[in-house]
Amino acid sequence: MPERERRWNGWGFAGEGFPVPAATRAWLAERLGEGDPLGATAEGEIPLPPSRPLPALAAPTVIAPAARLRAACGHSLPDLLALRTGTIAAFPDAVCLPESSEQVVEVLKAASAAGVTVIPRGGGTSVVGGVTVRPGARPVVALSLERLRGLVRVDATSRLATFRAGTLGPEVEAALAPHGLRLGHEPQSFELSTVGGWVATRSAGHRSTGVGKIDELVAGVEVATPAGLWRLPAQPASAAGPELRRLVVGSEGRLGVITEATLRARPQPECEDGLAVLMPGWASGVEACRELLQAGVPLEVLRLSDACESSFGTTLVSLSPLAARVSRALFSLRRYSQGCLLLLGWAGGTQEAMLGRQTAARVWRAAGGLALGQSGWRRWRAERFHHPYLRDELLSGGWGVDTLETAAPWATLGTVYSAVREAMNASGVRVVILCHLSHAYRDGASLYFTFLWPLAHGAELAQWGALKSAATEALLSTGGTLSHHHGVGTIHAPYLEREVGRTGVAALSALARELDPKGVLNPGVLLPEGDS
Ligand SMILES: Cc1cc2nc3c(=O)[nH]c(=O)nc-3n(C[C@H](O)[C@H](O)[C@H](O)COP(=O)(O)OP(=O)(O)OC[C@H]3O[C@@H](n4cnc5c(N)ncnc54)[C@H](O)[C@@H]3O)c2cc1C
Repeated sequence: MPERERRWNGWGFAGEGFPVPAATRAWLAERLGEGDPLGATAEGEIPLPPSRPLPALAAPTVIAPAARLRAACGHSLPDLLALRTGTIAAFPDAVCLPESSEQVVEVLKAASAAGVTVIPRGGGTSVVGGVTVRPGARPVVALSLERLRGLVRVDATSRLATFRAGTLGPEVEAALAPHGLRLGHEPQSFELSTVGGWVATRSAGHRSTGVGKIDELVAGVEVATPAGLWRLPAQPASAAGPELRRLVVGSEGRLGVITEATLRARPQPECEDGLAVLMPGWASGVEACRELLQAGVPLEVLRLSDACESSFGTTLVSLSPLAARVSRALFSLRRYSQGCLLLLGWAGGTQEAMLGRQTAARVWRAAGGLALGQSGWRRWRAERFHHPYLRDELLSGGWGVDTLETAAPWATLGTVYSAVREAMNASGVRVVILCHLSHAYRDGASLYFTFLWPLAHGAELAQWGALKSAATEALLSTGGTLSHHHGVGTIHAPYLEREVGRTGVAALSALARELDPKGVLNPGVLLPEGDS
């Protein structure tokens, strides 16, 4: 299959987009005022410094400006602003493209001996500064996993599949389908993110309420370190000391380069189905979600948007005149004036799906929900990988947009939700905050916030910093996690100690020093600079 050309300064593939609908513009203008459009610097106008000398690397290596530019940033808001304004702080001196696990080891050995920083790069979709090159005295190599792709083996009996780290989401599912299997791990970045990136960041997909985060799906890993390959083969369970596979999951390139991962697959579903339900409010919706999870209803997707996100969502879809009238009428009913959209999805055996649907209906009906049918669900399913294009279009329109996510036990979820909103509203930046609950567990759930603000040119980063730090402070001080699935990167690294304690940071640092004694792997990511 020919590779599709990726956009270098925004999300996705060249030629694709998600123009901001007129209704969305009006919705934003009403709350934030008109946006002041943000331009985009042309690729040819971005000056690159010459590459610094590097040791011989035992893998194909390129220093072409286009390759270095494309490996300079990820997809955080600061990254996107830097790419658009042509103010990229630093570039890798080369992009190295190993073709085997052994080559990765050799590259790490050479980099370690010469004191060259190595940034492992999967799909480059990190939103927390995990792949962003930072200025420094040491030369930098972006180690791209793009040539380490594909299925290595399938053990159909055990439903285990081993993939090379650079395999992209669609390639994973395409390789499993002929075996009657699927992984079901579908982050919104599915089309562009990789197996290695998922494992390195503890990612979660839309179906994670049913299939689990990647943490649950990893059965074994192979990791390249400067000292050689470290293999932790697939096992269903073990009592041989602490679970070291779990240490690799979420290690964000600090403990080595994941070269292969063995993942737990599941059979293709007999049927797949879903439903959109309008809940009367956020609190009753959250309560219904808790009941659904604690009753063990076999759901694969669960997603509850708060009233603001539900309202914003209606502006993104083009409804028939009749459907639009019905939608307006529903939201104007007193009972649903703060209506929250709940999406429920099932996949599996026909019996199981029917049981899930019936049990779920008892819960959402008792909480005052109103079934909206399957079309809202189907539209979301069809368009969910397309939504990220909207972010670039909003930036062009002059509206900043970023997301952050956390998790908390059910008992404190409401406090975290309110605290984050209050803190951002008090940050001094005019902001609209959308939120949804997704990725739910028996003991809690994740909250995913999207925040939008009118860009003040020249002060975009300061605005973002004020909002982001207010929200992070609020969620940490009310018992939320620093991240539920985006990871730590460089952006969250200064806060890691707040969640895992000084001892936790010290233990991780000691491990990183053991596996990477020269500290060449991803300095500043996960562990704050100076702690590694
Ligand atoms: C539009 C958009 C939507 C997103 N939606 C989701 C979502 O739904 N769920 C979710 O979990 N995340 C989401 N993300 C965040 C991101 O896609 C995930 O963090 C993803 O797991 C990163 O995968 P990647 O292959 O792009 O890794 P990269 O971005 O390339 O790398 C991420 C980090 O892992 C390290 N790394 C990468 N590969 C390896 C390897 N083989 N060995 C060691 N370290 C490695 C990198 O150095 C970096 O620190 C989204 C991002 C965007 C831009």
